[in-house]
Amino acid sequence: MSQPILGCIADDFTGGTDLASMLVRGGMRTLLVIGVPAGPIDSDADAIVIALKTRTLPAAQAVEQSLAALAWLEAAGCRQYFFKYCSTFDSTAQGNIGPVADALLDALDTPFALACPAFPENQRSLFNGHLFVGDTLLSESGMRHHPLTPMTDANLVRVLQQQTPRKVGLVRQATVSQGAAAVRQALADTQASGCGYAIVDAISNTDLMVIGEAASEQRLITGGSGVALGLPGNYKRAGLLADAACAAALPAVEGLAAVLSGSCSVATNGQVAHWRDSGKPSFALDPLRLAEGHDLVTEALGWAQPLLAQGPVLVYASAPPDAVKAVQARLGVEAAGAIVERALAQIAVGLLELGVRTFVVAGGETSGAVVKALGVEALRIGPSIAPGVPWTLSQSQAPVALALKSGNFGGPGFFTQALELAP
Ligand code: ADP
Repeated sequence: MSQPILGCIADDFTGGTDLASMLVRGGMRTLLVIGVPAGPIDSDADAIVIALKTRTLPAAQAVEQSLAALAWLEAAGCRQYFFKYCSTFDSTAQGNIGPVADALLDALDTPFALACPAFPENQRSLFNGHLFVGDTLLSESGMRHHPLTPMTDANLVRVLQQQTPRKVGLVRQATVSQGAAAVRQALADTQASGCGYAIVDAISNTDLMVIGEAASEQRLITGGSGVALGLPGNYKRAGLLADAACAAALPAVEGLAAVLSGSCSVATNGQVAHWRDSGKPSFALDPLRLAEGHDLVTEALGWAQPLLAQGPVLVYASAPPDAVKAVQARLGVEAAGAIVERALAQIAVGLLELGVRTFVVAGGETSGAVVKALGVEALRIGPSIAPGVPWTLSQSQAPVALALKSGNFGGPGFFTQALELAP
């Protein structure tokens, strides 16, 4: 096993996937690990991303899990660390960005880190310390009404300062526009002035590249996936990335293919309709019949078995908003979700037993349930199917190819498009 260069801790799963795809794009072979593994993992990856689910946990738990992830990454031999949070700086007044970053700095015995959630390409720009979502200040965007992490202040110096006893400084875009040497100097000056953090502006990909380059000697970098854009370049210049051209390559996977859909988003409902309209085989799971105790898992598998040899099949619970509301009114929101997730997870296991080795899964929670049921602990990240959705390969004895898509990703033909690109 070669030693990874970059060790990343992501505060949620899709954030981890997003960061991992970015690193692959930059030429790093990247492994996405789900939760902190019990022991070492044999891998030749240049970057390891541990995806946690700590964004909205009580701060003490978020800190504990993030420190466990850091300890694992240190043991794996990483030389630089990245704490990935949301590009809209999603956090409560208590955290968890400040407390987790503080704990990571302490554990790394490091006095200072930069903080840059910006990702201008995705409409998240940071100017004079203020975060914009498109043309709108964060505090005036939809994020002000977020159910768990309402963001009511766009001044990130102030927001982060509320979450940490360390002083928070600012490196303005006027400095970033002068290039990496200027940013490096500004970071050193901010640290010398007694700050533990610097919020760093970025209004373009060029700014992110500059910040990445300036961060080459920083032990810990904190931010969104955008600021990772410039990191692979540092490792290439240092001669650490041997095989950059093949970073996204995945070995071929033999076997059958299937699509599982538990997302009820507009995009996914469109994708299910597109699949059915093109005459491909599909099986609809009715949550009310599941709740009445009908064994739809066995029924779906029995239906799928003879069809699989001819091509991929779709099993879906996806339904339009009215139908979902009616089911939720009968069963309760959580119970309805859980019963569907359990059935789709059991069907995934059954399909695996029938020889399926390539899965397209629609739905964030649904993907979580399927990955868990299949016993997947780590995923090698492959080429992108659509922005934010890569093909992945499970790191297990019998590798399984997985495309995990959360709700609103992808165009109408996504399922077919994904299968055409499957490893
Ligand atoms: P998304 O990424 O679109 O949010 P998720 O999988 O995260 O998708 O969430 C969708 C939730 O809706 C899951 O808990 C799933 O089990 C549930 N669900 C799926 N189909 C139905 C349905 N027909 N009625 C009620 N709930 C459903």
